[in-house]
Amino acid sequence: MTATLRTYWLEHAWLGTHVEPGVTLDVTDGRIAAVRTGTPAPPPGAEILRGLTLPGLANAHSHAFHRALRSTVQVGSGTFWTWREVMYATADRLTPDRYHALARAVYAEMALAGITTVGEFHYVHHAPGGTPYADPNAMGEALLAAAAEAGIRITLLDAAYLSSGFGRPPTAHQLRFSDGDAESWAARSSLLKDRDHARIGAAVHSVRAVPAEQLSTVARWAEERRAPLHVHLSEQTAENDACREAHGCTPAQLLALHGVLGPRTTGVHNTHLTAEDVSLIGGSGTGTCMCPTTERDLADGIGPAAALQNEGSPLSLGSDSHAVVDLFEEARAMELNERLRTRTRGHWTAAALLRAATVDGHAALGWDDTGVIEAGARADLTTVALDSVRTVGPLPRLGAETAVFAATAADVRHTVVAGRHVVRDGAHTLVPDVPGALARAIRELRA
Ligand SMILES: [Zn+2]
Repeated sequence: MTATLRTYWLEHAWLGTHVEPGVTLDVTDGRIAAVRTGTPAPPPGAEILRGLTLPGLANAHSHAFHRALRSTVQVGSGTFWTWREVMYATADRLTPDRYHALARAVYAEMALAGITTVGEFHYVHHAPGGTPYADPNAMGEALLAAAAEAGIRITLLDAAYLSSGFGRPPTAHQLRFSDGDAESWAARSSLLKDRDHARIGAAVHSVRAVPAEQLSTVARWAEERRAPLHVHLSEQTAENDACREAHGCTPAQLLALHGVLGPRTTGVHNTHLTAEDVSLIGGSGTGTCMCPTTERDLADGIGPAAALQNEGSPLSLGSDSHAVVDLFEEARAMELNERLRTRTRGHWTAAALLRAATVDGHAALGWDDTGVIEAGARADLTTVALDSVRTVGPLPRLGAETAVFAATAADVRHTVVAGRHVVRDGAHTLVPDVPGALARAIRELRA
C-alpha cells in the first residue's frame, strides 16, 4: 500500500520562532513527512499557499449553540446572570437534529476562521425535562458528526452538570443537562469513543454544578483515560462567594482538594483568583483557557493570565459564546486587556500569543502532535492573506505581528486539516453556503 503524498508550497511559514520564506511540506497520510526550507519557488505539482501559513488554530472553548444568541443579547443591559436566562431559552429548543445542523454551520464558520480543532464543552445531554434520548449520547454524537462534516477536529468535553448551586437541585431549564449523579455521567460518557477526527474528554461544568463529593469521580474518569478535563473556574465573583459560604474555600482550592487540578486539566476563564489560587493552578500545571471576547461581552472581568503563566499555567484561547469567532481577536485581546490594566505594553510577543492559539491550545485538548509545522506533526495549516486591506504593508518577516495585531478571521485564505483543503481561497469546500446554513439553523431555534 502506498501512502498518498501531497506537496504544499508555503510562500511564508511561521515556524514557531520566526517567519521563513519559501517552505515546502511533504504530507503523507495526513501528517507532515518533511519540511524543506530554502525553496523560493513552488515545486511542480505543489499546492500553493500564498500568504503566511500558521499551524492550524485551536479554539479551546466552545458552546456551539451560543452562536444562536449572537447580537440578540446585545440589546439592553444586564449581567452574566440575565444573559444566562436568554441562553437557557435557546437551549430549551435544541434537539439532536437541530443541534447537528447548527453545530455543522458553526464549525464551518470556525474552519473559515482558520480553526482546525474545536474544544466543545458540552452539557445539553438529554431531552427537555431530563429524559434520555434513545441513544443517551444523541446530542454528543450530533456534535461529533457536525465536526466531521465541517472538516475540523473536535475534542468533545462531556460536562457533568448535576446541580444549580451548592446543595441545590437543577432548575427546570437545567434538568436536561443532568445525569443525576457523577456515576451516571461516567457511565454515559464512557459510551463515547475517540475516532480519527475526535477525542473524548471530560468537564466539570463548574463547582456550582457538581457537588464536591462527586468531583473526584469525574477527575478519576479523565485520569483513567489520560483525557483532557476542563472546568469553568471563578468566572464570576458570585461563584466564589457561594463556594466560600458552602465550603469555606475558593473554587480553585475545592478543585485541588478533590483531585481536579493537574497538567491535563484546564481552567476556563480563571478570572477572579486569589494569589494563592494562582499558585495552586500554576504549580499544579493546570492550564488556563482565556476567552477574552466573551469575558468582555459578559462583563466578567480580566483574569490574571500573565501571572498564571508565570506560575506555570499554559495558556490557550477560546471563543466560548461566539459573540465573534476570531482567534486573532482572542489572542490580541489577551495582550490588549493587560495593557489597559497595567498601562504598559508587551506582556506577550506575537509568537507567544500564536503558541497559545496553536500548539498549547491543541495540547489543552489532548492533541499533542498538532499545532506545529514540523516533520511528524499532523498536517493542519491556516494561511493568512498578507495582501488584504488590513494586512498589506508590513514586511513579511513581521507576519506573526500582522496576523495577531491586524488580521481578522476574514483574512484566512486557506484551512488545511490532515492534509485536506477544508477552506480554499476563502470558500469552504465541504459546506457550500455557510451563511445560509447558519441562517437556517438559527431560524429553527428562534421560531
Ligand atoms: Zn463556557
